[in-house]
Amino acid sequence: MSIVVYADKCTGCTLCVKACPFAAIDMQPHEGTPHKLAVIDLDKCTLCNACVDACSKFKAIEIEVEKETSQELSHYKGVWVFAEQREGKVQTIAYELLGEGRNLAQELKTDLSAVLCGGEDIEEEVEHLFSYGADKVYLLHHNELKEYKSLTYTRAVAEVITKYKPEIFLLGATTMGRDLAARLAVRVGAGLTADCTDLSIDPDKKILRQTRPAFGGNIMATIISPNNRPQMATVRPKVFRRSDKKDGRMGKLIKFNPAINPEDLVVKLVEIIKDESVKINLAEAEIIVSGGRGIQEAKNFKLIEDLAKVLGGAVGASRATVDAGWISAHHQVGQTGKTVAPKLYIACGISGKIQHLVGMQASDTIVAINKDPDAPIFKVATYGIVGDLFEYVPLLTKKLQEIRG
Ligand SMILES: Cc1cc2nc3c(=O)[nH]c(=O)nc-3n(C[C@H](O)[C@H](O)[C@H](O)COP(=O)(O)OP(=O)(O)OC[C@H]3O[C@@H](n4cnc5c(N)ncnc54)[C@H](O)[C@@H]3O)c2cc1C
Repeated sequence: MSIVVYADKCTGCTLCVKACPFAAIDMQPHEGTPHKLAVIDLDKCTLCNACVDACSKFKAIEIEVEKETSQELSHYKGVWVFAEQREGKVQTIAYELLGEGRNLAQELKTDLSAVLCGGEDIEEEVEHLFSYGADKVYLLHHNELKEYKSLTYTRAVAEVITKYKPEIFLLGATTMGRDLAARLAVRVGAGLTADCTDLSIDPDKKILRQTRPAFGGNIMATIISPNNRPQMATVRPKVFRRSDKKDGRMGKLIKFNPAINPEDLVVKLVEIIKDESVKINLAEAEIIVSGGRGIQEAKNFKLIEDLAKVLGGAVGASRATVDAGWISAHHQVGQTGKTVAPKLYIACGISGKIQHLVGMQASDTIVAINKDPDAPIFKVATYGIVGDLFEYVPLLTKKLQEIRG
C-alpha cells in the first residue's frame, strides 16, 4: 500500500495536518502552486486513513492498494488447511479445519488440501488427513521441520503457497498457527483475519466471508479480502466440529521439498520444556470446572481443583482471576483465553460477561453456580444453582466422591 497527495486537488486547507495523529504531514511550498501543499513523511505515516477521511471533500489524498488483476486472482484455486503437528502427531485443530474447509470447498466446487510439515516419521500421519476429508496432502518433509520454528516454517510454507496458489488458507488460532499465519500473510502478500468464529462463501462474489468478534466482543465483524490471495484466516480450536472420519479414504499425496537455506537456521531450538502445571489440556478436556472472581482468593482454587479432580476434568478460569494472579493464563477461558466446548462446563463464581461466554457457550451442558440470580451466566446455563459456591462446590465434590467410591 502507498499514499499519494494529488497536487491538482490539494487546496492547502491543512485539514489533513490537524487530522494526522502521527504528525506525519507538513505543508510545503510547491512550484507552480500559489499555496503550500501537503507532504506526507512516509517514515511517520502508518496509513491509518485519518487524513484521507479529513480530505473527503477534496479527495486530494488517497491510499493506493496494489491489486492483483482478476486474471491473476483466478490462478488461485482450492481450500487449504495447515495441519499443525506436535511431536509427530497431527493436532485436532487440523481435523476441525478440514471439517469446515470441506463446506467451503463444496461451495466453491473445488478441492480441499492439507499442508503437513515434519521430519522423517511424519508421513505416517498423512492417512489421517485423508480420512478426515483432505483430497490432497502437500507433505513438506525435512529434518529442520520436525519441530516448529518460525523462520523455517514460514519459508517452507510460503514456498509451497507461491508454487501451488490456494485461494483460501486456514490455520488454527493456536500459539503456532498465530505465529505462522501473521508471518506468512506478510510473506505472500495475503489478507489475514485472526480468530474467526464463522466462515462462509459470499454466494455472488465467491470470496471468503470471515466473521470474528470486534470491539471487545460487542459486535461481530465480517471481513473480506477481495484483492489478495490466498484469503487467510485463523480459527480457534473447538470453534468448528471435526467431520466424521472415513477410514481407508485416500487422496493424492504431493511431496514437496522446500529449499531450506542455512540462513533460515539463525534460530536454533535448544530444548523444549513442558509446563508441568498444565495437567490436562483445557481445549481437549471433556469436563471443565472453572473459577471466577467469586472464589475471592488464590488459595480457594483448591475447591475448583478438587471438583475437577473427582470428575476427571480440567481447571478453567475467568480472566479476572488470571489478572489477579490467582492462576496461570493457561487456564483462561474466553475471548483472550481458550475457546472450549466440553461435554460439561461448571462455572463457579463467574458472572458470564460476553468475553467469557464467547469462549465456552458451545459446551454441551453448562452448570452455573452464582449467588446473584441476575448474573448473565444463567442465560447460557443448562442448570443453575443460585447460591454460595463455598457451600455448593464442596457439597458437589463430596457427593460425587461418594457416588464414585
Ligand atoms: C478485550 C477484553 C477481553 C477479555 N477477555 C476475557 C477472557 O478471555 N475471559 C474472561 O473470562 N474475561 C475476559 N475479559 C474480562 C471480562 O469482561 C470480565 O471482566 C471477566 O470475565 C469477569 O470475570 P468474573 O466473572 O470472574 O468476575 P466478575 O464479573 O467480578 O464476577 C464474579 C461473580 O461471582 C459471583 N460471586 C461472588 N461471590 C460468590 C459466591 N460466594 N458464590 C457464588 N458466586 C459468587 C458474583 O455474583 C459475580 O457474578 C475480557 C475483557 C476485555 C475488555
